Amino acid sequence: MIKEKKGAILILSGPSGCGKSTLLKEVYKDIDDYYFSISTTTRAPRVGEVNGIDYFFVTKEEFEKDIQNDDFLEYAKVHDNYYGTSLKPINKALAEGKLVIFDIDVQGHEIVRNKLDSIVTSVFITTPSLEVLETRLNSRNTDSLEIIEKRIKNAKGEVEYFQDYDYLIINDDLQTAAKQLVCIANITRIKSTLFEKKNIVSSWLN
Ligand code: 5GP
Repeated sequence: MIKEKKGAILILSGPSGCGKSTLLKEVYKDIDDYYFSISTTTRAPRVGEVNGIDYFFVTKEEFEKDIQNDDFLEYAKVHDNYYGTSLKPINKALAEGKLVIFDIDVQGHEIVRNKLDSIVTSVFITTPSLEVLETRLNSRNTDSLEIIEKRIKNAKGEVEYFQDYDYLIINDDLQTAAKQLVCIANITRIKSTLFEKKNIVSSWLN
């Protein structure tokens, strides 16, 4: 009997402003049976963000209590705020055989890849240049100048990790990037059924 692994994991990382959230919104209609991992954060909600949909927005004290209670699969400080992934909903979604999608930073990617015993595919998303990233961060009008500057400053440090990822998407044109991401999601799901299929084919040999 070949070991059964359920579910599959798709990790997306990339500097702030590379368009991860927009890209995800674009591809959901083309991906079946997925679960988006809603992170917990101490950062303030942006205009239009909804608690429990975009993030669980909590205070620093509440976040630190969750750390003490060992609730997180992983957590990290990104741009001076805490961000973390609760373990329970992830385990549940994986047990149900779902494709679990994470939007997490480069630190979170390394931890999730090493901690969970499921098929993991990771995608690094970026803009064609730092200048394009700067323009996008400035034009989305959601953050103060100080926050934008911090995110631009941190972008290069994040891009340094691109080699650690299975795929690289340069998000120049949204539709092209979306098509690539749907392909990657579908391949990840097919990969996750390999164990089940191997069991079926192995039974031929009994
Ligand atoms: P934003 O504030 O722009 O929503 O997110 C800032 C950064 O935090 C992004 O790179 C995003 O991928 C990352 N991030 C969001 N949630 C998590 C999380 O749960 N864990 C980690 N490690 N990073 C996260």
